Amino acid sequence: MTSSLGDSLRDRRLNWPSTAIFKTISNNIDGEGLAQSVKQSIKLGLEQKNHICCSCTGDCSTNEKCECLKMAQLMEKTLGGEKIVRGQPIHNPPSDEKTIYWEKPRFVCGPRCSCRKDCSLNPIQSIDKNQPEKFEILRTDQKGFCLYAKFDAVAGTPIASFNGEMVGPREIKKDMNVYQYSLQVIANDDPFRKILSKCKSMDHEYKDQLKKAYRSSVYINPLKMGNFARMTNHSCDPNMEVLRVFQGGVSPADLRVVFIATKAIKAGDELTFNYGDDYVGQYLGTCLCDKCKEERGSRKRKIEDTTRVLRSQAKRQCN
Ligand SMILES: [Zn+2]
Ligand SMILES: [Zn+2]
Ligand SMILES: [Zn+2]
Repeated sequence: MTSSLGDSLRDRRLNWPSTAIFKTISNNIDGEGLAQSVKQSIKLGLEQKNHICCSCTGDCSTNEKCECLKMAQLMEKTLGGEKIVRGQPIHNPPSDEKTIYWEKPRFVCGPRCSCRKDCSLNPIQSIDKNQPEKFEILRTDQKGFCLYAKFDAVAGTPIASFNGEMVGPREIKKDMNVYQYSLQVIANDDPFRKILSKCKSMDHEYKDQLKKAYRSSVYINPLKMGNFARMTNHSCDPNMEVLRVFQGGVSPADLRVVFIATKAIKAGDELTFNYGDDYVGQYLGTCLCDKCKEERGSRKRKIEDTTRVLRSQAKRQCN
């Protein structure tokens, strides 16, 4: 992370805002204010019988008996999102939907699986590795901290995970900083309930708790503990979108947030996602994303042009 402000005193790490200092974690952890059903689901999800993982020894995509592949295919069939394959961008048919990924969570192999590390169904295991080689975080006067790519990627490429503490809505309302940095991961979700209705052999108590849990709201708060993805700025014309990915099971604790490129990214591009209409309306005031700056610029130009026309008309009338 580098700070490059006009005022070099403020550049010193000692003088960075408290929001820039956090502990790095590579997975989400339980936090405060979660609904009882979410807590209970997480607890039951830890029981071995409720794990979804495989004991494959080769590549899972060719093993029809693989539990993870079965789950990935069930989600693909139920929700329509093509399963993620390691090293390949996700292919998205053209659609009019507002978001490409939100309604289509995926399932992938995880740390509990015994398949090869380079299993093609395990595309996000190393997503955040070699962070300094892949990403740059730079603080500027105008936009604060920004996250930049140091690589090229095509649309559909998984870019980074977003980690933090899972918290309930109460925690979000308590603290303005928490609100600004957190990202909602469960929002009274239909896709999850659709998947659950297809899981025939699931333990009944577990399924009941999960159904309730997915009716609640859960946020990922990266403020105290998280990863570099928290530095991602908002844009009204972003180049990434949130995909929710299950790993190891279908409890809220097995859910990971992964940013996927929604357009081609070039080395040097700032990485952004849309924080949502609420956020922009309520908290951004003047949005600093390139699209809004451009629009303000053209609006300003338009006003200047109109003023010029009016002035010259007035002049002509005087003559
Ligand atoms: Zn696998
Ligand atoms: Zn497998
Ligand atoms: Zn697996």
